[in-house]
Amino acid sequence: VMNHGGGKITTLSTASHKALNRKSLIHKKLISALNDNKLQVVYQPQIDSYTGDILLYEALVRWYDDELGHVSPDELIPIAEENGLIQKIGTFVLTEAAQLAATLHNANKPTTISVNTSVREFNNPKHNKQIMNILQKASCPPERIQLEITETFAFKAEEENSISSQMKVLKDAGVEFALDDFGTGFASFRYMQSLPITKIKIDKLFINSLTTHEQTKKLVNGMIQFAKSMDIYVVAEGVETEEQLTLLKQLDVDALQGYFIGHPMTKEEITPSLHS
Ligand code: C2E
Ligand code: CA
Ligand code: CA
Ligand code: CA
Repeated sequence: VMNHGGGKITTLSTASHKALNRKSLIHKKLISALNDNKLQVVYQPQIDSYTGDILLYEALVRWYDDELGHVSPDELIPIAEENGLIQKIGTFVLTEAAQLAATLHNANKPTTISVNTSVREFNNPKHNKQIMNILQKASCPPERIQLEITETFAFKAEEENSISSQMKVLKDAGVEFALDDFGTGFASFRYMQSLPITKIKIDKLFINSLTTHEQTKKLVNGMIQFAKSMDIYVVAEGVETEEQLTLLKQLDVDALQGYFIGHPMTKEEITPSLHS
């Protein structure tokens, strides 16, 4: 009889062993998954707080493997960043996003697709060209793509300068930048000034306790006021309840995203008529 995973073998290995095994298995299987087109992209709507109109969709990567099950991006992305596979994932997701944006554009339903990317990638001087090549191949107008950047590392001042000027080139070509996970990093407020971003996304961590903690409400209100004073557009992510939605509108947030607004969907669900 084979061991079904719950027997002696599992009890022998330590938790860290298991984590290490899973990590190396993810690494190994990710290479073939990328080659065999096994990754998927889903799209979550973001709406205008005042009109309720859908403004854009955020592209989120998904990977299901028979052996590993669902591998969440929070597990997948850090592993991919360690071994250089992040670029392949980035190319895949941006290609999918650009194709969808082009499809919607050609169907006279111009919609922005927002793609997650690490600010670190702009350290690579070829990054801009790679992005523009992908958009061109998909016949996607650059104005239809937004990039959400997260700060995962500290930069030296000269690095930050070169990253900022690379981003400016793309921005001049029409690509917009949003600063993601706002408030959780150590450089959120500095990046707001030093990088050519036009939007911030207040992290769902804050939205989560917005209606239950007075301190959080004050903090979020402060972030919004500060952003507005700099003409920066404010998005709240992780909106799960009507109470949160109501309060965020009162606090003058521009756009809303979260399960209460809409779950991530496949491209076929967004545009049934365009893919049948
Ligand atoms: P993020 O950019 O902050 O994306 C928001 C995450 O919150 C997504 O998780 C989304 O599915 C989830 N979410 C949306 N609405 C709600 C809500 O109302 N409540 C809660 N609790 N969660 C909500 P997901 O898809 O698991 O992605 C996790 C993170 O992985 C993302 O955080 C992003 O940083 C990263 N990521 C996802 N896709 C990509 C990608 O294609 N490339 C890169 N570089 N990173 C990605
Ligand atoms: Ca994001
Ligand atoms: Ca976030
Ligand atoms: Ca994130």
